[in-house]
Amino acid sequence: MLNGHALAKFRKQLLGWFRQFQRDLPWRRTRDPYRIWLSEIMLQQTRVAAAIPYYERFLQRFPDVQALAAAPPEEVLRLWSGLGYYSRARNLQKAAQQIIAKHAGQFPTRMDEALALPGIGNYTAAAILSIAFGEKHAVLDGNVARVLARLGAIRDDLREAQRWQELQKEADRLLEPKSPGDWNQAMMELGATVCTPKSPQCLLCPVAQFCEGRRLGIAESLPEKRKKRATVEVTLAAAVFADGEGQTLLFPPPKNTKEKASADHVPTLVSRMWHFPTLSVTGEPAAKLIAYLHKLIPDVRDRKWQLVPAGKVRHAVTYRAITLLPFLINVKKLPRVPGARQVPLGDISSLPVSNLTRKVARAALAVAAFVPAKR
Ligand code: SF4
Repeated sequence: MLNGHALAKFRKQLLGWFRQFQRDLPWRRTRDPYRIWLSEIMLQQTRVAAAIPYYERFLQRFPDVQALAAAPPEEVLRLWSGLGYYSRARNLQKAAQQIIAKHAGQFPTRMDEALALPGIGNYTAAAILSIAFGEKHAVLDGNVARVLARLGAIRDDLREAQRWQELQKEADRLLEPKSPGDWNQAMMELGATVCTPKSPQCLLCPVAQFCEGRRLGIAESLPEKRKKRATVEVTLAAAVFADGEGQTLLFPPPKNTKEKASADHVPTLVSRMWHFPTLSVTGEPAAKLIAYLHKLIPDVRDRKWQLVPAGKVRHAVTYRAITLLPFLINVKKLPRVPGARQVPLGDISSLPVSNLTRKVARAALAVAAFVPAKR
């Protein structure tokens, strides 16, 4: 455990390294809590390079918390579309509305108030409060936990509750009290660029001399692997109607229910966004999809729909390995379905859709060029 002079030296070396070598990222050029908050939420499940264009587009459209709170929810989801994990966007907007209603439009500076906002947990609250306001809260996520495990040569399961609490205490103890925002970013930067999950670059590490994992030659094997949840195979059939003008039919976001989602729960898999009629199938997908469409769209006279298979597409959602079977259905006129909307198949992004739905559209478009519309 680092104490006294060693701790002071450790802090000085890590902070000095961060201030000299940190990556120039758009959210590092500001102390605006709204921008820092947005970046932290986007980065929760998304790599830095992928998040940057979304971050910039989002801020162009919603430059402050007021604009976000007042926006149509569909517009917020549309700008998030492609980033995945859409509950992040929904919670972001709900939190913005609470900030307007309860905090006069200012991001709260107290930990308990920040934690009361939707979508904000310990890590995100500590990051925002330390970076934007200089509050003394240490961040702890998987990235920082890995660095701490290597520095202290900790071999246990880091996610075990007791161990996680001890890691939080250690992160709090190491925190540089004069620059908590920079300190937290330095720990994150070390984990992201030097002390990476595979092949940590100990030769370039500014705190290598303090690292017990390195001294024992076990750094690379830490933290020890957790048992992964077994992969579940899911097969989905999706119907893509297309009329002669290239218009298709999207169905509205499924309503939230309290039911426990199974692995093949379609509303979860389409991220509760606009989607093609989709069904989890085993056995004969085309026959099952037709039966499903007949139930879903009962009031149509001409239902002699021909399903054109549009290949197989692979998709992954957490532990699910999904095989998508899109079917194109050429029609003279799109069926009228209450709540559904007509959009161009080549540009379904005028509505918020998930990556799964984009993949289905792409596959259908690839066969649409070769199948003439039904006359
Ligand atoms: S010496 Fe290596 S294992 Fe230790 S903190 Fe630095 S990069 Fe990580």
